[in-house]
Amino acid sequence: MQIGFKDGEWLVPDQPTVGYIIGDGVGQDISPVARKVIDAAVQKASAGKQRIDWQEILAGERAEAAGKERLGREALDAIKRFRVVLKGPLTTPVGGGHRSLNVTIRKQLDLYACVRPVKHIPGVPASVMEPEKVDVVIFRENTEDVYAGIEWPAGSLDAKDMIAFLKGKGHAVLADSGIGIKPISKTATRRLVTAAIDYAIAHKRTSVTLVHKGNIMKFTEGLFREEGYKTAVGFKEVVTEESLEGRKAPTGKIVIQDRIADAMFQQLLLRPDEYDVIATTNLNGDYLSDAAAAQVGGLGMAPGANINYEQGIAVFEATHGTAPKYAGQDKVNPSSLLLSGVMLLEILGWDDAAGMIRAALAKTVRQKRVTYDLERQMTGAKLLKCSEFGKAIIANL
Ligand code: NAP
Repeated sequence: MQIGFKDGEWLVPDQPTVGYIIGDGVGQDISPVARKVIDAAVQKASAGKQRIDWQEILAGERAEAAGKERLGREALDAIKRFRVVLKGPLTTPVGGGHRSLNVTIRKQLDLYACVRPVKHIPGVPASVMEPEKVDVVIFRENTEDVYAGIEWPAGSLDAKDMIAFLKGKGHAVLADSGIGIKPISKTATRRLVTAAIDYAIAHKRTSVTLVHKGNIMKFTEGLFREEGYKTAVGFKEVVTEESLEGRKAPTGKIVIQDRIADAMFQQLLLRPDEYDVIATTNLNGDYLSDAAAAQVGGLGMAPGANINYEQGIAVFEATHGTAPKYAGQDKVNPSSLLLSGVMLLEILGWDDAAGMIRAALAKTVRQKRVTYDLERQMTGAKLLKCSEFGKAIIANL
């Protein structure tokens, strides 16, 4: 049965139809494993009452092989219709004319929030001394900023026009410059910060940090900070860090604060336990979410989702790429896609199944039964194939 959406809530039947995109490259390895683990957890958590009705959406090389566009209207409509989708990685061919399918999905469906929870799984080799102190959820704005795709190559007529326009405004720009535009709107800031605060309230988090570079880019990054605060003070659950004057926030309140992006990279390394939910612009968020993931074990373990909370469309995806050299070898780590599947279960409201997977994955890592990427960093670990790792997690559910 189709998943519905009303008043900001996903309406989920016991046997919801959920879309899946297998993905290119290692998608064929990780996608079936993730779905099998999810199915086993749902079966167990609901004693057979609930079950996902998975429907494939053809995209990427599989669509091409079936004589379709790599990302056609049919696929985009299917994502919209199913509302909730588990997506493997898709290739972006190198060279002119190829747009990233991943970016196209986000843009076409206006999936404005890229949500990346970053939390250490005990036993996973990490690059910092106290990875257990990292537990943040990053909300990255997904539609604006220098990522909006408004740019012109050096020497083009458009670039020349822009340079002439800027000259007229008193700004000297070298004639051989490529030009890019950085739009940041109040509207997109408001909806992103609202999503971050709603999440903080729903998950009983204690702070939301606005990360920006407003000291330098006053009318774009600075706007994000300003509009972010304006949005936040509209919530009765929120207090500003400034108003607390160093005191602790009253129980149940969420502190809204802001940090400059470069300082935030340091803060996440030095005092990660002081940060909780983070809301940030597109480029800052791109860097920050991968850097944070690296602290707790890298992209192979990092989940993510691209969500439009107003229209109720959510695509949960592996954060790594197609790793073509390992494609079809049943070798790579399925955890990124599986943990994105855990986020998917949480959106469905199936928290028990989600919790079971997290616990079973942690147990499997504690048992040192892992895929090659973790095995090579651990001593005394048993090397498992992708599918064997999935079976070990299922046995630990
Ligand atoms: P990549 O596919 O993420 O692979 C880079 C390296 O990361 C791999 O060689 C491997 O490292 C490691 N890795 C990736 N996934 C892993 C997994 N599941 N388990 C263990 N290790 C894993 O990055 P890329 O080679 O730059 O990109 C390849 C293609 O993917 C490109 O076409 C790119 O456009 C696309 N891409 C898609 C997405 C997406 O769909 N969201 C995201 C990024 C890139 P070792 O070699 O050290 O083992």
